[in-house]
Amino acid sequence: MGKIMIIGAGGVAGVAAHKCAQVPEVFSEIMIASRTKAKCDAIKAQIDGGKSIVTTAQVDADNTKELIALINQFKPDLVLNLALPYQDLTIMDACLACKVNYVDTANYEPKDEAKFEYKWQWAYREKFKEAGITALLGSGFDPGVTGVFSAYAQKHYFDEIHYIDILDCNGGDHGYPFATNFNPEINIREVSAKGSYWENGHWVETEPMEIKRQYNFDQVGVKDMYLLHHEELESLALNINGIKRIRFFMTFGQSYLTHLKCLENVGMTSIEPIMFEGREIVPLQFLKAVLPDPASLGPRTVGKTNIGCIFQGIKDGQPQTYYVYNVCDHQECYKEVQSQAISYTTGVPAMIGAMMLMTGKWQGAGVFNIEEFDPDPFMEALNQYGLPWQENFAPELVD
Ligand code: NDP
Repeated sequence: MGKIMIIGAGGVAGVAAHKCAQVPEVFSEIMIASRTKAKCDAIKAQIDGGKSIVTTAQVDADNTKELIALINQFKPDLVLNLALPYQDLTIMDACLACKVNYVDTANYEPKDEAKFEYKWQWAYREKFKEAGITALLGSGFDPGVTGVFSAYAQKHYFDEIHYIDILDCNGGDHGYPFATNFNPEINIREVSAKGSYWENGHWVETEPMEIKRQYNFDQVGVKDMYLLHHEELESLALNINGIKRIRFFMTFGQSYLTHLKCLENVGMTSIEPIMFEGREIVPLQFLKAVLPDPASLGPRTVGKTNIGCIFQGIKDGQPQTYYVYNVCDHQECYKEVQSQAISYTTGVPAMIGAMMLMTGKWQGAGVFNIEEFDPDPFMEALNQYGLPWQENFAPELVD
């Protein structure tokens, strides 16, 4: 029995709150705190009536003092950060001050520099260790489940993993010519950045969307996918034995790419502030304001996601290949938690990561990436809480 404070009230936070409320024996009290309290109240209204006590609060997560005051008032066992990557460090500072465990799903990114790296959060290792508390970084799907899949492959099927290809396919259709499935600002910053992959000990950089492949995804079909930089590549390159190459591919439809190119060409995806009618605006933030709210896509999105990892390496001196993936249905998610599958596939692992720490199944003082813990209880929980996985020992490979 414990108390969780969820920060943020967007698509992912909504799912995580639903899933926490489904496990009242672990999450007996849930506080949802975010910038806009009305959004917290709307989530509370959806999940009230179960055994968990749900409360809401307004907080500016950029302000460490405000966070500390709220944490001291509610006294949670764990803070689950589902706001934006910009808030990671202020929330980690507040957790340190109050000696409370911390979990997030995306690594820190400075607002004025579209660059995400672990270095800022890894710099907290000693402080968390000294405070005797745990920070679990990247407990979404990717990063998150992809790291758990990697640790599971390493533990059970390989002596050395040489190649990892992470394939993230969204076969869903929301019916809009252009919309993003999660926070548009974060999403567009990610996909309009240069691509990169890890090979033989160093990063190989590509132009945005330069490397394209096709893959036939189980239950979705053939899709075009593009190589992107993605944050888990950085930690997996360090934590997986014998790694020679890690790549990350995401599927995009032609309509999405055509719109994105056009928006880029006219300067709408820029994060450089411009003057507009006497005040400074950031074009990408303005674009976010006119795009559909990702949380509103739930009722209209149909189709499935398929996200997983293909591993190639050696076991007992023999070559070994292993593909592990989850297929998730947008409409099934909507029926269960009033959200589409992108928020669902992130919110469920966020709840499970929090549960691993709150039940003591995962322990340790310091700052950890998810693949550093025993994957078995997390893999079991994925099957139990809505993200069952499938295995294939002879999958189609990506060239
Ligand atoms: P949303 O934009 O839907 O939600 C973000 C929430 O954070 C909003 O409720 C927003 O408040 C709140 N927020 C923003 N700034 C502050 C602040 N200063 N103080 C308090 N609250 C704040 O995003 P998503 O739910 O789609 O994504 C949440 C997180 O999950 C992001 O970090 C994203 O990168 C990550 N993610 C991770 C994935 C993974 O697989 N690992 C996949 C998808 C997302 P308001 O409502 O007022 O705007």
